[in-house]
Amino acid sequence: MNIQFPDILRPLMGKLTWRRNPASKVIYLTFDDGPVPEVTPFVLDILKEHNLKATFFCVGENVNKYPEIYADILSHEHKTGNHTFHHLKGYSVSKEEYLSNVKMAAEYIDSKLFRPPYGRITFSQRRALQRDYEIIMWDLITRDYNRTLTTDQIMSNIKRFSRNGSIVVFHDSVKAKNNVLNVLPLAIEWWKSEGYEFESL
Ligand SMILES: [Zn+2]
Repeated sequence: MNIQFPDILRPLMGKLTWRRNPASKVIYLTFDDGPVPEVTPFVLDILKEHNLKATFFCVGENVNKYPEIYADILSHEHKTGNHTFHHLKGYSVSKEEYLSNVKMAAEYIDSKLFRPPYGRITFSQRRALQRDYEIIMWDLITRDYNRTLTTDQIMSNIKRFSRNGSIVVFHDSVKAKNNVLNVLPLAIEWWKSEGYEFESL
């Protein structure tokens, strides 16, 4: 998957949000796939240390399992978004199954934001969901889930591709644990040194 999906191709994917406020020096941090006890509390600590707000695209199944961590996300004034109940890949299931999975997640996640797992969503699934949700993609994916990437490699991608209004994806998942916890503090320091501010979506 491209670290930065080409601007010129984005409109072909339909009405999706890839980036916000390209005129201002803002970074939108997002964390996918949690909440999980192994990672999410540590991410919350890092964000709190820097006093910044982010957006967590939660998997309904995990919110069901760890309601207290989900409550912590909200009590720290972060935003949350729906990331389906079972982390479904849109291309692999029918529209009906996809929508009912999103609906199931919505029983746990009160949000008008939706991010399709793997960025994979069919035209008809997207059309249906857009009645109720803003669909959030990303401007920069850190690939923190790839354990063969080093902190340095991820940081150099962040430095190369960050720009005004970038929506940046990290993962509060067990797979990404080492990368996200190592990279996030360094990346925040670097963005701050470049004059970026942080907002939730
Ligand atoms: Zn995901």
